[in-house]
Amino acid sequence: MILDDYRSPWLTEDLADLQQLARTFMQKEVVPNQARWAEQHMVDRDFWRAAGAAGLLCISIPEEYGGGGGTFAHEAVIAAEQARVADDAWANSVHSTIVAHYLAAFGTEEQKRRWLPGMASGDLVGAIAMTEPTTGSDLQRVRTRGLRDGDDYVINGSKTFISNGTHADLLVIVTRTSDEPGGRGLSLILAETRDLPGFQRGRVLEKIGMHGQDTRELSFVDMRVPAANLLGGVEGRGFQQLMEQLPQERLIIAVTAAATAEAAVREAVAYAKEREAFGQDLLSFQNTRFVLAECAADALAARTLVDSCITRHVAGELDAAGASLAKFWCTDIQNKVVDRCLQIFGGYGYMMEYPIARMFAAARVQKIYGGTNEIMKELVARAL
Ligand SMILES: Cc1cc2nc3c(=O)[nH]c(=O)nc-3n(C[C@H](O)[C@H](O)[C@H](O)COP(=O)(O)OP(=O)(O)OC[C@H]3O[C@@H](n4cnc5c(N)ncnc54)[C@H](O)[C@@H]3O)c2cc1C
Repeated sequence: MILDDYRSPWLTEDLADLQQLARTFMQKEVVPNQARWAEQHMVDRDFWRAAGAAGLLCISIPEEYGGGGGTFAHEAVIAAEQARVADDAWANSVHSTIVAHYLAAFGTEEQKRRWLPGMASGDLVGAIAMTEPTTGSDLQRVRTRGLRDGDDYVINGSKTFISNGTHADLLVIVTRTSDEPGGRGLSLILAETRDLPGFQRGRVLEKIGMHGQDTRELSFVDMRVPAANLLGGVEGRGFQQLMEQLPQERLIIAVTAAATAEAAVREAVAYAKEREAFGQDLLSFQNTRFVLAECAADALAARTLVDSCITRHVAGELDAAGASLAKFWCTDIQNKVVDRCLQIFGGYGYMMEYPIARMFAAARVQKIYGGTNEIMKELVARAL
């Protein structure tokens, strides 16, 4: 298979070992549970601990805080293996590559020691609450308020579309802490949600795909959190902190996009070899052959773009425009490739028991979250 002949230039022996470990883990711990997770709209709580015990959580967080001591490349390997089995239920990228990195990059020493080891073991599940019912792309319009009252912040507001909303024990909340205009008034405040008065979980949202993911509305009513939970300990830095971390969030979405495109081609090739019509297998029709050749080229092009971004990101050289470019281009390719591969399955492609159907339903949101593809193009255009 042409896609298997290509090896990412950054894939060291250490990372190839991780790839094997993650592949085995996905087969054993994820694949048998996918249908059940979709029905219950969340992964099992114990699954987070199993992932922690296997060393797959917070793998790019320094060992002194309980992490795996790896780099973004380690996260990319895990995300790609998850995509390979068409899993869209486990929001590890939110937990390990986003929330844990806010703490690692901006947390005080006390904050890192307090929360990162629990995140690495799976005892604490992380989530980030930026989006509100009235604002998503335009983050500077966030209305959730955090008012200082003695040694606490009193938080009021509501958030929506929050991944890991059911499991979240540790929530990073984008909060307005002053009347300074735009982003200057925003801060990131962490809340430990267990038994926290004023913390309310709203609906589990019915999505068109990613049914196994616990995406929820959350609200805060006079919710008190210690002032010591202000990320980094200084108010007004929230918007800057978001801007610094968002490129990594966008790159991990691109990684998943490229790996899913590859997985779709693999699924379609296998099906086209075995399904017969008019006395021959589907792969012998010229249309099938041409479609799959084009999809393989698209998938490989996405993979090589992502590979170059990973190399640059690990070296600390990937800027916001570069990550945004990879995010919009790879997710567009993902949607195109998955749609074309699904067509090869005929009616079976529309049945959720087939991974290609799950891939199709999950692909759409990749162009929306993590910053919409339109916003990504704006960021790229500004760098032209
Ligand atoms: C399944 C799922 C999981 C999510 N998980 C999380 C999460 O864990 N945490 C979190 O905080 N959020 C999460 N989100 C929210 C997601 O990040 C937002 O939906 C996204 O940023 C877009 O915001 P919006 O929905 O408010 O759309 P809007 O900002 O209202 O945009 C609507 C449309 O207008 C376009 N538009 C807006 N501004 C411009 C502009 N300047 N130029 C051109 N076009 C523009 C957009 O591209 C889009 O097409 C999730 C969303 C989904 C669907």
